[in-house]
Amino acid sequence: MYLKVLRMLKKKNAGKHSVTILMGQFNETIAGKETIKSGINSRPAGEFTDNPMIHLRLIKKLGLLPLMFSNMRELKKSSVGPHTVPAKTNISTEELGKIEQKARELGAVSIGYTKVERDDIFEGFGILYPYAIVFSIEMNEEQIQKAPSYDTLKMIQKTYAQTGVVANELTNYMRKLGFGAQAGPGLGGYAVYPVLAERAGIGAFGHHGLIITPETGSRHRLAVVYTNIENLPLVKENKHKWIESFCEKCGKCIKKCPAKAIYETPVKTKGENIAYIDNKRCIQYFAKNYGCTVCVKECPFNKTNYNVIKKGFLPER
Ligand code: SF4
Ligand code: SF4
Repeated sequence: MYLKVLRMLKKKNAGKHSVTILMGQFNETIAGKETIKSGINSRPAGEFTDNPMIHLRLIKKLGLLPLMFSNMRELKKSSVGPHTVPAKTNISTEELGKIEQKARELGAVSIGYTKVERDDIFEGFGILYPYAIVFSIEMNEEQIQKAPSYDTLKMIQKTYAQTGVVANELTNYMRKLGFGAQAGPGLGGYAVYPVLAERAGIGAFGHHGLIITPETGSRHRLAVVYTNIENLPLVKENKHKWIESFCEKCGKCIKKCPAKAIYETPVKTKGENIAYIDNKRCIQYFAKNYGCTVCVKECPFNKTNYNVIKKGFLPER
């Protein structure tokens, strides 16, 4: 695993030779168990056609190594399946409260629950359980303001590593309580987390393709724990959908994106899938500019409280 991370520092195509391959290998380790496979409209796992690491000076690459190792360690841990068949499929309010409390103690900010559809799973991958607890981990505001910068990139890697720690610890905790659980860290997940997050009702898509939540705008990374719990409190309606109309009037990320990668109008792709950004354009700039993140920095939800924006936009509510 460590060798693969070191190779990642040199390879032009980071995705193909590193995270995606590791994901595939780790996915094999759970494949012997009963998995729910991807669907006919599943998207391919994101591939980096350019590698941000090769554009960094050696000293900066070395500065990121410990964080990359942590990310890969958490990804590897997440592939360890349960040793026993889960005893329970139904949860009490008290037990769910304990899980939420644990998640918050570990650093989760927004938390929601959803069913996972097969098309949510990346092409060729599988998961153990059909439900998910989705959560966000906040990214440091000061470092976001410096985007694009090395400090911002480092902070993002650190946040990713934290999503892995939270997902793995929560998984262990849930297994001890007798439930089925499988960690889905922020980096190298097997499903499209923003889609799960929106369905879980923790926020809604902004035009930059990221989930905007009341707690942290789009200044967060998402992760999940897949579970067999059948009576999770799923939401019937997403109360944040007004953001779509707000985005249509705003368009700031579209104007500020240095690569002109954000579509004026989101594009429908395979099945019900929607593309908000042209990935190829984004990655070309992203790779050479410390992971960019300008769209997060410039979004009004990163500067003004969600409720203040909502009140100004929907004054009657
Ligand atoms: S990360 Fe940068 S290049 Fe990519 S969509 Fe956001 S602003 Fe544009
Ligand atoms: S910058 Fe404006 S258009 Fe873009 S996601 Fe944020 S609110 Fe929506």
